[in-house]
Amino acid sequence: MICSHGCGMVIACTRRLASIPALLFCALLALAAPRPVAALTLLRDADIEHGLTELSFPILRAAGLNPRTVRVMVVDDDTFNAFVLDHRTIYLHYGLIQSVDSARMLQAVIAHEAAHITNGHIARRMGNMQSARTAAGLGAALAAMAAVAGNGEAAVGLAAGTQSAALRGFLAHTRAEEAAADRAAAGFLTYAGIDPRGLVELHRAFAGQELLSVSNQDVYMQSHPLTRDRLRAAQDYVEAFGRELPADPLHQYWFDRVRGKLSAFTRAPDWTLRRAPEEANADIRLMRQAVAYHRLGRLDAALRAIDGAIALRPEDAYYYDLRGQFLMETRNWAGAVAAYDTANRLAPNEPLILAGLGRAQRAAGQGAAGLDSLEQARSRDFRDARLLHDLALAYAQDGRPGMAALVTAERYALEGRLEDAGPHARRAAMQLPRGSPPWQRAQDVLSASEKLQKRK
Ligand SMILES: [Zn+2]
Repeated sequence: MICSHGCGMVIACTRRLASIPALLFCALLALAAPRPVAALTLLRDADIEHGLTELSFPILRAAGLNPRTVRVMVVDDDTFNAFVLDHRTIYLHYGLIQSVDSARMLQAVIAHEAAHITNGHIARRMGNMQSARTAAGLGAALAAMAAVAGNGEAAVGLAAGTQSAALRGFLAHTRAEEAAADRAAAGFLTYAGIDPRGLVELHRAFAGQELLSVSNQDVYMQSHPLTRDRLRAAQDYVEAFGRELPADPLHQYWFDRVRGKLSAFTRAPDWTLRRAPEEANADIRLMRQAVAYHRLGRLDAALRAIDGAIALRPEDAYYYDLRGQFLMETRNWAGAVAAYDTANRLAPNEPLILAGLGRAQRAAGQGAAGLDSLEQARSRDFRDARLLHDLALAYAQDGRPGMAALVTAERYALEGRLEDAGPHARRAAMQLPRGSPPWQRAQDVLSASEKLQKRK
C-alpha cells in the first residue's frame, strides 16, 4: 500500500514528506552516503505492482526473461526516468508513468530496459544514475539488499564494484547500446503482440532534447542518449512492420488503473475528485474517488466508493487491500483484519497484502497469527522496509530480542545504512542459537557491514 499517513517508518521516508505532507511512502533504498544525497525510495503498492506485472509480463516473456523473477518497481520520484541495476528489477520513476500517454509507450520503456538486461549492458554498467555519488550510494544499498537476501559475498562484490572510481565511466549507456536496446525492444514488443509505435512515440517525446544543454535535459535523456538516428531507426522499423496492432484492452485497463492510483495518492484530492469522472472504467473511477475521500478524512464516502468498486470486481484482492488500508488508518482493527483476510484469500502469497494482514492482526490483538503473517510476508519479499519495522516490533513485544535485533539489522541494511546495521547484527548473532538460519542471516549482514568498513 501507499501509506496515507504515519506508519512509523519515517527514518528514510522523509524526502517527499515536505512536499506531500499527507503522504508517506515507505522506503526501500535510502542511500548511504557521508553527505546528504537524494534518497532513492521505492513506492510499494500491491495493486500498482500487480498492474505493472500485467503490462510487462508478455514483454519479459518475449525477452526470454522469467516474468516471475524480474519485477517492475516504482521509484518515488516525479522526474522522467527508468533504469536497471541488476538482472531482477526494472525501476520506473512514478513521474515517467504519469508522463507517458499510452500503455504502449510505457511498454516500450519496459521493453527497452528489458533489452538492457538481456543484452548484458548492466554487467559493465551498474546503472544510469545521475551522478557517481548517487550511484555509489545506491551500490551500498544494493549490496545491503544482497546481504539481507542472504548472499554475503555478492553483497561485498556489489559494494566494491559500485563504489569504485571506475563507476563514473559507465553511468550512462552508450549510443551503440541504446541503438541495440531499441532494436531488441522493437522485437520484444512485436513478438508480444504490442504495437512498436510506442517506441517512436517515446522518442518523439524527447526529440529536440538532444539540442538542449545537459542541465535542461530530462534525466532519462542523459542516461539514455537519444539521437535522430534512433528516432529514424524506430520509424523505419515501424514502417517495415506495417500494420498497426490493436491495443490490448487488458493492458489499457491496467495502465489506467496504475496511473489512477498513483495520481490519487500523489496529487491533491481535489484534483482527483475533479478529474475522476473522466475515467472510463467505473471501478477505477470509484477507487480514485475512494483514495481522495480517505485522504480528506471522509471515511464514510471512501468506504462507499471502494465498496462500489468491489461490487464491480468482487474477486479483486487489491480493492480489498485498499479497503483494509482505509480501515487500518482509521483504527478499525477488526474491519481491517476482515478486509485483508479477504484480499489474502483472493491473492494468496502476495507479500504486501500479507504484511497488511499481519499488521492488522497484531493491532487487533491476534498476536500469534499476526506474527505468522508478517513472517510469511518477509520470506516472500525482503524489500519491504515497513514490514521489517513491524516485524521487529512484533518480535520485541513477544520477548524475542535476538530476532528483533536481526530484523532491525536487515532493515538498516536494506536502507543502505550498513554502519547502523552492524551493531544490531552483532547483538542478534550473540543472542541467536549459533548455526541456526537466523544466526546465519545475522552473520551475512555483519560480514557485509565489516567488509564494507574495511574497504573504506
Ligand atoms: Zn537505454
